[in-house]
Amino acid sequence: MSEQNWRHGRRVAIAGAGPGGVSAALALIKQGYDVRIFEKTPEPKPLGGAVLLSTPVLAVLRHYGVDVGPSFGSKTLVEFRNNRGKVRARLPFNEGVEAALGIEGWHYGVLRSTAFAKMLDLLPEGVVVPNHSVIGYDDNGETVTLKFANSEPVEADMLVGADGIRSKVSAQAFGDPELFHVGLRVWLAWCEDWGGLDRSIGAITHAKDVQASFFPMLHDGEPGWEWWVVEKSNEADAPPTDVEKHLRERVSHFADPLPQFLDHTDFSSQAFRWEIYNRPSLTRWTSGRVACLGDAVHPVSPYAAYGMGMAIEDGYFLARALGGRSLADPSQIESAFARYERERVAYVNHHVEFARKLGSQFHHAARPVSFVRDLVFDNTKLLQKLLTKDYLADAEAMSLSLEELHVR
Ligand SMILES: Cc1cc2nc3c(=O)[nH]c(=O)nc-3n(C[C@H](O)[C@H](O)[C@H](O)COP(=O)(O)OP(=O)(O)OC[C@H]3O[C@@H](n4cnc5c(N)ncnc54)[C@H](O)[C@@H]3O)c2cc1C
Repeated sequence: MSEQNWRHGRRVAIAGAGPGGVSAALALIKQGYDVRIFEKTPEPKPLGGAVLLSTPVLAVLRHYGVDVGPSFGSKTLVEFRNNRGKVRARLPFNEGVEAALGIEGWHYGVLRSTAFAKMLDLLPEGVVVPNHSVIGYDDNGETVTLKFANSEPVEADMLVGADGIRSKVSAQAFGDPELFHVGLRVWLAWCEDWGGLDRSIGAITHAKDVQASFFPMLHDGEPGWEWWVVEKSNEADAPPTDVEKHLRERVSHFADPLPQFLDHTDFSSQAFRWEIYNRPSLTRWTSGRVACLGDAVHPVSPYAAYGMGMAIEDGYFLARALGGRSLADPSQIESAFARYERERVAYVNHHVEFARKLGSQFHHAARPVSFVRDLVFDNTKLLQKLLTKDYLADAEAMSLSLEELHVR
């Protein structure tokens, strides 16, 4: 490995080239650091399917140089509905946020691989070091040395743990994550657009204990749809073998247009099963010369539709807190890490815990409770109020605080 561009006091090693690690790298390079991402696989690859990204995330990506123009994603109004199609809540757009960020709407649907490839394209050659599986580190207070399964150790001034839900870095820094299966699985699928559906709206739709949902998205500028099913699952049970049959049965209880998506999906390459794990929230994400981000410290239930977004934001906030200062001085690192934690930990934990609570309320409520829940959600504005207060309010406030990303 060349020692060029690996200057003492500016060396940042990142474990994991997922969206969080790549975002941190792009932001840190912009701040003048020398960055290397050590990735365990031969090539960084995002998980399958599409994601919803919110406009502050798009503003961060735009700051890195990603073209977030009309071909980047599909602007989506997100509605919550019951399985008969009745609208229970609508995530409104905030005009102040739209004007400040210069991006319309709030959610954009985009194929993960498309968004991720655009981020990877911006990384200078040689930043990603593939086939390097991090197994631990030594932090002696002056430097931090990464240890790998099959390669020589590497010394750096700072380590970013962005190695996902089963993070080795986070486990060493903060102990056993105590991961638990939340009793849910997601079937994520996508298909091409076939015309005829309103492409301005996505819907998160609930029956008694199953969710089936969809939103419009773009993949490489082409129109498509993401659709998914969330259902109860037991870790010990084998998953269904005939995925298409299983999902057709599940979706048969839902109003149009949901069943249509299945007719346009290739189940051998466009549908993915995802068992959902979570962990108790952490109060610290940094230790010594190590900072963690993304799923390494806060795996998210799909109810937030914000895990990739939050991992990208974390990388940006971490670099902003460091602000280009020398990493040779431990007190500079300490104050930057304190700022990073102040700006991110409570905000993210709130979103993760709210998402977990929604998942539990929609899928694990006992029969009389689920009956009352549906009655209340169908006939009052309670769900709208919960989403506005617990999901949108602080995300909008955070967006307005990112003044350096504003267009006016
Ligand atoms: C069903 C489902 C739906 C979702 N939908 C959305 C959505 O709509 N919007 C959204 O924003 N988010 C969504 N998410 C969440 C999102 O996918 C994750 O939160 C996001 O991928 C986290 O990014 P990350 O970079 O922290 O971790 P990861 O994406 O897990 O990346 C970690 C990287 O580290 C590498 N790695 C792992 N171990 C090591 C090691 N020891 N050494 C070196 N490298 C290592 C891995 O190979 C990988 O490249 C969803 C998640 C689920 C489960």
